[in-house]
Amino acid sequence: MNECGYCCVKIGEEPALLANGKMWHIHHLMCDICNCRINDGERCVPQNGIILCQQCHIKTTRPVCKGCGDFITSNLCEALNSTWHPTCFQCSVCQKPLEQNFYQLPNKMCVHSDCYWQLQLRIVVCKDIIPQ
Ligand SMILES: [Zn+2]
Ligand SMILES: [Zn+2]
Ligand SMILES: [Zn+2]
Ligand SMILES: [Zn+2]
Repeated sequence: MNECGYCCVKIGEEPALLANGKMWHIHHLMCDICNCRINDGERCVPQNGIILCQQCHIKTTRPVCKGCGDFITSNLCEALNSTWHPTCFQCSVCQKPLEQNFYQLPNKMCVHSDCYWQLQLRIVVCKDIIPQ
């Protein structure tokens, strides 16, 4: 019980940290994801037996926006099995935020259903204009 969870050396009088039900030398408590040292006082959150530093904890619990790759801290919008900032999930045609009613194009772009038909129309018109 009083062996370091990392190096398995017995912890004597030296200061140690308790995390995940084990004792750790202060410099041996490391984040399982980024391997950074977890300092005393920093929140370390054991999750399913994994010890995480504060930053990795934020990374693993906060959803990431599919559009810009940033973490979503406030409102999020769920669509296409991903999470988005409401401002990042926008129509590729008119650049306005998408609501529930949208089409996904074969190239993964999302557009309003109205914009979709405009786009289809434009494609048809262009085909007619361009000589074969
Ligand atoms: Zn140790
Ligand atoms: Zn980390
Ligand atoms: Zn975003
Ligand atoms: Zn649109």
